[in-house]
Amino acid sequence: MVLDRLRRNAAGRDPKKIPDGLWVKCPGCAKTVFKRLVEERLDTCPECNHHFPMASAKRVEVLVDPGSWQEWDAGMTSGDPLGFIDTKPYIDRIAQAQSKTGLKDAVICGTGAVAEHPVGLGVMDFSFNGGSMGSVVGEKLTRMIERSTAARMPVIIISTSGGARMQEGALSLMQMAKTSAALGRHADKRLPYISVLTNPTMAGVMASYASLGDVIIAEPKALIGFTGPRVIKETIKQELPEGFQTSEFLLKHGQLDLIVARQDLCAEIGRLLAYMRPA
Ligand SMILES: [Zn+2]
Repeated sequence: MVLDRLRRNAAGRDPKKIPDGLWVKCPGCAKTVFKRLVEERLDTCPECNHHFPMASAKRVEVLVDPGSWQEWDAGMTSGDPLGFIDTKPYIDRIAQAQSKTGLKDAVICGTGAVAEHPVGLGVMDFSFNGGSMGSVVGEKLTRMIERSTAARMPVIIISTSGGARMQEGALSLMQMAKTSAALGRHADKRLPYISVLTNPTMAGVMASYASLGDVIIAEPKALIGFTGPRVIKETIKQELPEGFQTSEFLLKHGQLDLIVARQDLCAEIGRLLAYMRPA
């Protein structure tokens, strides 16, 4: 159903804008595959089902029932509270990310229906500064959670992130506590929260809201953890187990509830919402 909807949308676009004849090399199976076929399969490889990164807007489009999406705090943008300059000023880095992606920051939040259940939804986007969590990501998610609590709606957050945004220093780290506290108040009202982890979900995001779901779902073969495997290996000076920090490894060790392929995600979330529906 979702695939049909995407195909219809693709057919309705200006054909000149469809990048016809473009091929992409799959990092999963090393085969060269037709890019449009990958896009039609929700950005997965037709040969090996490798999950490519997916834009936040497309995730909303495939997850939320048509016509039901209403975005919240769409215009919120980052300040530069520390006057931070690394290889370039932070303010320039943000402006470049905005013009490259067409996004204001690394998360979009709002409300819509998923399989006919009204929910509050936050979707992160890795293409914006590595999905890093600064004040805007934390504030938008917190407002979305608080509005969902007030309206007695379940919350869904789809995460992808390299972690907290270093250019905002401790202010980024404070978002971990802020989002976690909002989810705590949401849980106090016995309202469900589904966390979906996609490749990669790391560091401060994994150590806060991403790991707090009543149900924690991951896409296949996603890298999920706190510190990256290379740093851990150098620190403890030991070989890491095979598949360390993948979805499959974490499921085996009890840190995840489910691994769900992207094609099945909408139906699976719908099933969970029907089961956990707030009274
Ligand atoms: Zn492949």
